[in-house]
Amino acid sequence: MTVELDKWFQSIPEAELGAYSVQKQEFVKKEITKTCSMCKQTKSLTEFYKRSDSYKYITLKARYKPYCKDCWLNIRREWRKNNPERYKQHYTEYNSKNMSRISAGVKRRYYELKVKVIAILGGKCVYCGCDDLRFLEINHIEGGGNKEKKAAKIFGRAYMREFYLSIINGERKDVELVCGPCNKLHFYWLKFGRDNVPFKIIWNVEENTNFAQQASHPV
Ligand SMILES: [Zn+2]
Ligand SMILES: [Zn+2]
Repeated sequence: MTVELDKWFQSIPEAELGAYSVQKQEFVKKEITKTCSMCKQTKSLTEFYKRSDSYKYITLKARYKPYCKDCWLNIRREWRKNNPERYKQHYTEYNSKNMSRISAGVKRRYYELKVKVIAILGGKCVYCGCDDLRFLEINHIEGGGNKEKKAAKIFGRAYMREFYLSIINGERKDVELVCGPCNKLHFYWLKFGRDNVPFKIIWNVEENTNFAQQASHPV
């Protein structure tokens, strides 16, 4: 699963990774200090914002603004007060320019959450042992997943996020990890009774034949 996550992470274009590399540098920045040229206080580099043209500077220290965050925010506040129209324009431009980076961050955090949930629930289908991330789903053991989804006041990813978090926090004992085919089979078990469903999942993969036969519906 870690491999899958790495693969996904590597597929994000370098430009969109800016936010994450900054996080990685955070521990280095704490050790370096810089003196604010406005308030004259010496602070750790984490107390400074990066310059927008930081790539022009060689040392890490020089890549940060000459004013500390507090002073910079004061300057910005003053500027906003004096230039409300230009601020509005700048803000809109910034958002449209950074949209792909922002959504990559959201996507990544959501994916990390999903991988964590899958790991907590055992990392493979409880019925046939399938551990391919593409096919794994979370099943409500007693059914009612759709009803629960409809009753929630939130939708789509926001709902899934809450759902995943409740599993991570150990609040859900009514869910299990299954693959898509076993999930469908489970649906029929609930509908017609397990003894009345004459199917079982067998993998069509040569090297896994033994494993698949052993793991097919152990219960
Ligand atoms: Zn300052
Ligand atoms: Zn399965």
